[in-house]
Amino acid sequence: MKIMVLNLGSTSFKYKLFEMDQGEKELSSGGVENIGNAVSAYRIRSPRDIRGEAPCPKHEDAFALCLKLMIEEKVLSSMEELSAIGYKAVHGGSLSGAHVVDDEVLTQMDAHVSFAPAHNPMYLRMMRSMRSLYPTLPQVACFETAFHANQPEYRAVYGVPYEWKEKYGVRRYGFHGSSHSYIAWKMGQDAPHCRRIVNCHLGGSSSLCAIQDGKSVAASMGATPQSGLFHNNRVGDFDVFCLPVLVEKLGGLEPVMKALSSQSGFLGLSGVSNDMRDVMNAADEGNQQAQLALDAFADNIVGYIGMYTAYMGGLDAVVFTGGIGTNSAAFRKIVCDKLSFVNAKVDPALNVRGHEGKVSSADSGVEVWALETNEELMVARGTKQCLGL
Ligand code: AMP
Repeated sequence: MKIMVLNLGSTSFKYKLFEMDQGEKELSSGGVENIGNAVSAYRIRSPRDIRGEAPCPKHEDAFALCLKLMIEEKVLSSMEELSAIGYKAVHGGSLSGAHVVDDEVLTQMDAHVSFAPAHNPMYLRMMRSMRSLYPTLPQVACFETAFHANQPEYRAVYGVPYEWKEKYGVRRYGFHGSSHSYIAWKMGQDAPHCRRIVNCHLGGSSSLCAIQDGKSVAASMGATPQSGLFHNNRVGDFDVFCLPVLVEKLGGLEPVMKALSSQSGFLGLSGVSNDMRDVMNAADEGNQQAQLALDAFADNIVGYIGMYTAYMGGLDAVVFTGGIGTNSAAFRKIVCDKLSFVNAKVDPALNVRGHEGKVSSADSGVEVWALETNEELMVARGTKQCLGL
């Protein structure tokens, strides 16, 4: 049984193709970057590594390109061979978990476009296009909010009129659920003695999750994936009472929202780049704004870890994942050096790029892990389960 999982960003398309009958084998993975530019860079591994450039004006073109390459590489004979498509869908409001994509799902996702403007529109377009191209192929949306759905209500509410929660869905949902649930599962396999974990998913989008006995008990993102820690170019938590001033100064709500969702985060604060590697290099060269962005990011992470340690009544492990968390041994050390309250220590021989697993020293007060996430695998599992395959 072959399941293809799609993961869409505003200008990126990623996929993984799994054989789910024989030990969840990953047959192919890849994607396209810079969709909408004159040419887009693509890469697929099946397992041969193929890279190139091609025009991909839309996400649908990126899908068609990857499909063609998979067929050429003989990992898929045609779309007929697929049992289902699973989506790492972002925001369906009160609709959480895994759902067959039907009119109700599309309506709910449409209703939450303003909550997830960088994500929901691409998924909606792709789902509609797939429905018309392959009407008999089951499609399943696995929402990023699902892993956090059972947090206590007192942790999900904002201090706003209560009816806003019911009427407008204004509450904390938490996101990155596929990644956090993968880490919860993986740590359950590799380190079952670690019952209280803070998972730091740090990448283009970043969020932290407190995982107690395999379940999410707190998450840093709130009603929208713009919140919590700041992101590559998105704002993170922000005082809404700045809005009237900014609306007046920038000439309307639209430019303010645009700036908060695309010119903020690492890009806005450092003034250098939305890419952590560039920000770290600039800080090393003495750029003070870049250093400030790094310090603020690390400080925020440490604050969340402290809060979550209090929520869980202790801490057994901190896990780092996502593009920054998995790849940057230097940033893991920066954070752990600030966790003196739990005496976290990385081992310089283990805390190196490319090493996956435990990276803490024997005398560390908590375990520190660096793990590559596998969000797509969780979506493939959710899709299979939802369809009863
Ligand atoms: P993701 O969204 O999880 O794919 O993460 C992508 C981001 O990870 C990139 O935009 C970079 O900012 C960051 N990243 C990737 N590799 C490294 C590295 N070696 N050091 C620091 N940041 C990195």
